[in-house]
Amino acid sequence: MRILLTNDDGIHAPGILALKQILETLGEVRVVAPERQRSAAGHGMTLHKPLRITPVKLADGSDGFAISGTPTDCVILGLDVVCEGECDLVVSGINLGSNLGWDVTYSGTVAAAFEAAILNRPAIAISLALDRREDGQVPDFQTAARFAGFIAQQLLNDPLPPHTFLNVNVPAIPEEEIAGAVITHQGRREYRDRIVARNDPAGRPYYWQYGNLHEGEPDPGSDVHAVLNRQISVTPIQLDLTAYPVMDKLREWKI
Ligand code: MN
Repeated sequence: MRILLTNDDGIHAPGILALKQILETLGEVRVVAPERQRSAAGHGMTLHKPLRITPVKLADGSDGFAISGTPTDCVILGLDVVCEGECDLVVSGINLGSNLGWDVTYSGTVAAAFEAAILNRPAIAISLALDRREDGQVPDFQTAARFAGFIAQQLLNDPLPPHTFLNVNVPAIPEEEIAGAVITHQGRREYRDRIVARNDPAGRPYYWQYGNLHEGEPDPGSDVHAVLNRQISVTPIQLDLTAYPVMDKLREWKI
C-alpha cells in the first residue's frame, strides 16, 4: 500500500510531517510537496517552464521530494514519477488554516485532492481550522492527523465512487472539546474589505489582499457551521461544478 502525501504549505511545514507519521502506520508514504509556501495556489499547474524534483530530508530525518511547482504539479509528478504510477491513496495536508465553503476554490490543499480525483485516485484534503492564531500559539496537528488516519483507513476499506474525494476540517481545539464529526455540505464564505492599499518607500501605491471574513449566519449542515460548532467536518466533493437548476432556466433562453 502506497500513499502520496502532499500539501500547499510547503514540504517543511509541520502539518505534513504530523500526517506522514500517522499514515506510515497504514503503508509506505511518499512525501511530494511544494518547495515553498503555495497556499491559495488554487488548481494552477505549471506549463510554460520546466519543473524540478529535489530530494530533501524532512525534520524527522526521512526522505521527501520538493517540487518547484504547485500542489497540482506535486500530484501529477508524484503519481507519475515519484510513485511510478503505483499509488493507492493521495492525502493533502494538514493545512494550517481551514478550507471551508467557497474557499476550497482558492485552496492548493484541496486542489491537490481535486487533481487526484481527476487522475482517478482516492483522495483526502485535511485542514486544521486555526484561522485566528494567537501570538505564540503552536498549532497541534495530532488530533487532525489521527482523524485523517481513520478516514484514510475507511477510504481504503470502503472506496467512494470515482472522481470524488473528502474535504476534512478539524477544529483547532483540544480533542476532548471536539463535539464529534459530521458529514457536511459545502457552505458559503466571503470576504469584505479585501484590499489594503499603502505606499512603498518610493511613494508608489501597492495593494495587499487580506480581507476580513464576513461571518454571516452559517448554513446549518454546512462545513462552516460544523467547524463553528466545534465539530469535525467531512464534506464529499465531486468534480462536476455544473449548476443543474440553472440549466432549466437557460433552456427558456432558447439558445
Ligand atoms: Mn496552506
